[in-house]
Amino acid sequence: MAHVSFDGGTVPLDDVQENPAKYARRLERTKVTPGFALCLCKPANASLRLVIRRYRSLFHLAGWPDDGHRHAPDCAFFKDPNRRPLPGSGDPKAAIVATPAGLNIRLDVSLTQREVRPDRGKPASPSGTRTSRRSATLLAFLQALWAAAGLHCWNGLATTRHWGLCNAQLLGELGDAIVNGRGAQDVLHVMRRYQEADRATINAEFDAFVAGLRNDSGGVTRGVLVGEIAEVAPTPYGHSLMLRQNPRKYYASTALVDHASKTWPHAWKALGDRAARIVAVLLVERTVKGHLRVVGLALMLCSSAYIPCDSIHEVAMANRLVAEHRSFEKPMRLAEGDDMLPDFVLRDTEPRTHIEVYGMNGMDSYEARKAEKRELRRQRGIPAVEWDIDRTELSTIALPPTVHSRAANLTS
Ligand SMILES: [Zn+2]
Repeated sequence: MAHVSFDGGTVPLDDVQENPAKYARRLERTKVTPGFALCLCKPANASLRLVIRRYRSLFHLAGWPDDGHRHAPDCAFFKDPNRRPLPGSGDPKAAIVATPAGLNIRLDVSLTQREVRPDRGKPASPSGTRTSRRSATLLAFLQALWAAAGLHCWNGLATTRHWGLCNAQLLGELGDAIVNGRGAQDVLHVMRRYQEADRATINAEFDAFVAGLRNDSGGVTRGVLVGEIAEVAPTPYGHSLMLRQNPRKYYASTALVDHASKTWPHAWKALGDRAARIVAVLLVERTVKGHLRVVGLALMLCSSAYIPCDSIHEVAMANRLVAEHRSFEKPMRLAEGDDMLPDFVLRDTEPRTHIEVYGMNGMDSYEARKAEKRELRRQRGIPAVEWDIDRTELSTIALPPTVHSRAANLTS
């Protein structure tokens, strides 16, 4: 269990991440002086600084820039030195740029409208090309955010991860982020994990975010919500969506819901499947009556521990890897050409083992890519576990034994 130190005390990192309100005042003091917290994941080297980022009234910890590789491999702030940088790193025209001050994101949706526009039931349109900078879709943004926060990796220690930790790690990355030229805190709301004790604060925080969305003669401002879908239900006028972290309803046109079900069929089909989770990014407007209308969305299928997955079979594999305490990574498809990435990489074997989940057997393009990936692995001497879902049950697939004991990881 990793500990962090600030304000004259040492506390479990999990506790800070899951209960940000409890530590707000102490982190606020520490942010002023000395300006950083310490991560104690490596007792022998207890000097790893952590950035303290404010997100509205709360404070979240993030790794010090370029320091990720110095943390213990199972520390939440560890960043694999070999990991791929965000696409467009070093390219100022990229849609998502990681800067020492935080992420700078340009979304391909407009966050302001000068005139009130009737709901046309279509996804929000791109905001023109005022600059030559590229822009990211809502899904690309969500995936990049997940990768930046390290949520695509699993350290093999815990047996589960709930929304509170995701929220803390996302906000640690987002604290000083810029979205479409504005502070992320003004335009982006990552749902808080619902806890009865914090209900009043959580609701007040959400209400303040909604109150900041304008809809009057001066125009419409939109907000971006990140949360987990609990339910989608038909209404007389379209559909309502509910997120797991808050009982509030968001209203979407049938056209938008149809678009989502066709664009992200694997996520859509997993609705109601208790083994899976569906993380959503919603672009919302406040109606004149005060309802929240969804004008754009993207869905990301995840395992029960919020590891992104491309199919329900990958969800089953990820759930098994977590249950068996494996250390692994889901390589995120963030750029063109990333379709050659393996489905998962086991980090606790030497060399690392690729895991491939084959589901669309027989399709020519799929078979060709499968053969190409096999050949690449053969040339590079990369071992692989292959699960053909048409032929075998997941339980019959043998995984290679781990070479690093967890104790070794903790002290390395
Ligand atoms: Zn650490």
